[in-house]
Amino acid sequence: MDERTYTADAEPGDEATVAGWVHEIRDLGGIAFLILRDTTGKIQIKFEKDEMDDDLVETGLGVHRESVIRVAGAVEEEERAPTGVEIVPDSVEVVAEADPELPLDPSGKVDAELPTRLDNRTLDLRKDEVKAIFEIRAELLRSVREAFRGLGCTEINTPKIVATGTEGGTELFPITYFGEEAFMNQSPQLFKQLMVGSGLERVFEIGPIFRAEEHNTPRHLNEATSIDFESAFFDESDAMDACETVVRAAYEGVAENCADQLDALGLAETFEVPDEAFPRLSYEEAIERINATGELDEQLVWGDDLPTEGEHALGKEMGQHYFITEWPSEIKPFYIKDKDDGQLSTGFDLMHPSMELVSGGQREHRYDHLVDGFEQQGLDPDAFEYYTKMFRYGMPPHAGWGLGGERLVMTMLGLDNIREAVLFPRDRQRLSP
Ligand code: ATP
Ligand code: MG
Repeated sequence: MDERTYTADAEPGDEATVAGWVHEIRDLGGIAFLILRDTTGKIQIKFEKDEMDDDLVETGLGVHRESVIRVAGAVEEEERAPTGVEIVPDSVEVVAEADPELPLDPSGKVDAELPTRLDNRTLDLRKDEVKAIFEIRAELLRSVREAFRGLGCTEINTPKIVATGTEGGTELFPITYFGEEAFMNQSPQLFKQLMVGSGLERVFEIGPIFRAEEHNTPRHLNEATSIDFESAFFDESDAMDACETVVRAAYEGVAENCADQLDALGLAETFEVPDEAFPRLSYEEAIERINATGELDEQLVWGDDLPTEGEHALGKEMGQHYFITEWPSEIKPFYIKDKDDGQLSTGFDLMHPSMELVSGGQREHRYDHLVDGFEQQGLDPDAFEYYTKMFRYGMPPHAGWGLGGERLVMTMLGLDNIREAVLFPRDRQRLSP
């Protein structure tokens, strides 16, 4: 590759070659300015028509917006320029021409609807505030990985093509695997559990989960990124501690390393790392408090799942992240361990005021109870023999959780649609790009 200076690194006194996209051209008659944009920012290129070679002026000012150009010249201080410097060009080369008609205006002057933006993600991510979301997402994942490492976890990768599902049959995507029926995995649940009985003991995975959600909602995707944790010799309380550590680390990483991105999103003043311990509310308390808000048409009774309006009513009261613990066993999956009386489970959810972020719990590690659980949930234990049999060869007590990566980004940044946090979302309408 040729030598190229990022616009952010161009210093007065340098002879520099910059390369990037034509953001804007402002022609004032005798003088014209071209704003060139690259991944680090923007820089002004000055054309003084009378003093410059005609060809140079013609090339520089005749190029369509969003074309890729390369400009060489002297970097000079200019306090009236947006970044305090400008380039007086010696040469301008058009590297890749853009059509005059764009499906989307990357300068943001013309608003576009979300579907248009998603159809043209490349152009959409030329906007600072959209690019910022994905730079923050990357930083969040980096911080989360580091937090897991701090907890002594090993990162694992488990299969996404599986013979059976675990989280309820209706949400499975069937595929054909050399003539046999197979499925896209809904969760790494069983595989990560198998690893706590291996020599690894404490593991995490960041990978895709596939769920054939029937309805389009602002917080469901059909392909999502799950951040999963599982540890031997942990109970649900230890797992909640680890969950809090990881979520907080994500916020801390973004606060520390994404100042410009938060600024681009208008969040520089308001972004806060959650400082208090996340309160732990029992399911019973949760439904009582929801009922007390009077926001639901019908009172919740023991055994009900929390409706979205109920989550919102309680979230408004709590005003911060909180756990809901001690869910009724009957509404948690078979692999969640019951408390001693059998009515209550060790299952928990971590809630953001606006939605569920995490489900977790201590797991059933006793072979007989586990097999009974499969049958009660209407699943054939034989189909899961690869999993259950390992519980006969020394499976320690263990606990863990799964955190929706996009929901973490979405709630952290106050995005109103989960699709904003995914480059190429998959939903009921969208299979391409
Ligand atoms: P919900 O009730 O909100 O649909 P869930 O209880 O079905 O979620 P879990 O099986 O508990 O989801 O999955 C653990 C976490 O994974 C959820 O708390 C959520 O953050 C995330 N998640 C699950 N399904 C989706 C999805 N379809 N799109 C985006 N994130 C999801
Ligand atoms: Mg859940």
